[in-house]
Amino acid sequence: MFAPEQYQILHNTNQAADIVIINTCGFIGDAKEESIDTILAYAQQRKTGQIKKLIVMGCLSQRYKTYLEEEIHEVDAFFGVDQLKNVAAMIQQKEFIYIPEHYKRNLSTPAHYAYLKISEGCDRKCSFCAIPLIRGKHISVPEAILIKEAQHLAAMGVKELILIAQDLTYYGIDLNGKRMLVSLIKALAKIDGIEWIRLQYTYPAGFPEELIELIATHPKVCNYLDMPLQHINSALLQSMKRGLDGAHTRQLVMKIRQQIPDLAFRTTFIVGYPGETKEMFEELCEFVKEMRFERMGVFAFSAEEDTTAYNLGDSVPEEEKQKRVEMLMAIQQDIALELNRSKIGSLQKVLIDRKEGEYYIGRTQYDSPEVDNEVIISGEQPLETGKFYDLSITGAEAFDLYAEHLG
Ligand code: SF4
Repeated sequence: MFAPEQYQILHNTNQAADIVIINTCGFIGDAKEESIDTILAYAQQRKTGQIKKLIVMGCLSQRYKTYLEEEIHEVDAFFGVDQLKNVAAMIQQKEFIYIPEHYKRNLSTPAHYAYLKISEGCDRKCSFCAIPLIRGKHISVPEAILIKEAQHLAAMGVKELILIAQDLTYYGIDLNGKRMLVSLIKALAKIDGIEWIRLQYTYPAGFPEELIELIATHPKVCNYLDMPLQHINSALLQSMKRGLDGAHTRQLVMKIRQQIPDLAFRTTFIVGYPGETKEMFEELCEFVKEMRFERMGVFAFSAEEDTTAYNLGDSVPEEEKQKRVEMLMAIQQDIALELNRSKIGSLQKVLIDRKEGEYYIGRTQYDSPEVDNEVIISGEQPLETGKFYDLSITGAEAFDLYAEHLG
């Protein structure tokens, strides 16, 4: 039996470890490059004996296992997705390992928040995306298992659940032919100790009306929505196989904005998709200026083998793609700064994530860990990590807020 308590899990990459497990991403070019750089850095340590075992798992090694095995000999084993048991067996040097009650997790996040993966894989056919090839078809985790996992997390002190999936809105369709995300969220919200539920990664086409209402009215559901829109030009959206044209995408965003006025809308766009002309890019810039998204990310198109977009060629030069990324981010930076400045003087409920030197770092309900704004609070008055405080916002930058605890 695998006994996690036999091991001390280190999350700080500067600490010396005997075994290093690298969980890789193989989504787009930049992610692949980052994964390979990390593997190579630790391969060097494995070679010199600083670490005793080096294991690589996740999407990149699922997709390119043979190639990686041939090229990087210092890695002891490459595993794909859904092979946690094999990783545990390898660490214990056993043929087979039984991991009981998988919901009893060891958290790799601070004790007060946790990601809850409600499904795996994706049934959509977005032209640019390799995830369905790597992760397979959409499989929802039954509600009863998720409730048990969330109860366990709450008992461990988790207050914020971040629901993740390739496509949250598809939850339940493979189980009984209907969308069940709203009923899942309502059930999770009943668990004592859970105070915030955050939704990350929703799909625009067929976005459920009742979900908009739930976010608008449920006190535990954060006024936060992460919905990658990818573009606004209809011809590109059609080529991307996103199931919505520009006009319907615009209508959806406006409807959500109207029904949830106090919402942090997070989205991402792809620039440099095959055939994206300067005019199409300009259309996207105008859309971003008009919609004033609270949070936004931009990716340069990356041609991924075996996707339908791969065969469209890669017509926009890399340099032009990078220029478009920077131009769109510059527009967003101005918007983000204005929106953040409008919060100065307001009182915000802030969850304290950590202490860093002289400062406490926290987040509001409008921000997800690692990708969004942080609230920086002077450490003069003692605060407790993992607790909520009502703080007065005193300053703002494009991607951070400053706050004071009034005691
Ligand atoms: S919905 Fe997301 S994960 Fe699924 S194919 Fe489209 S981009 Fe990929």
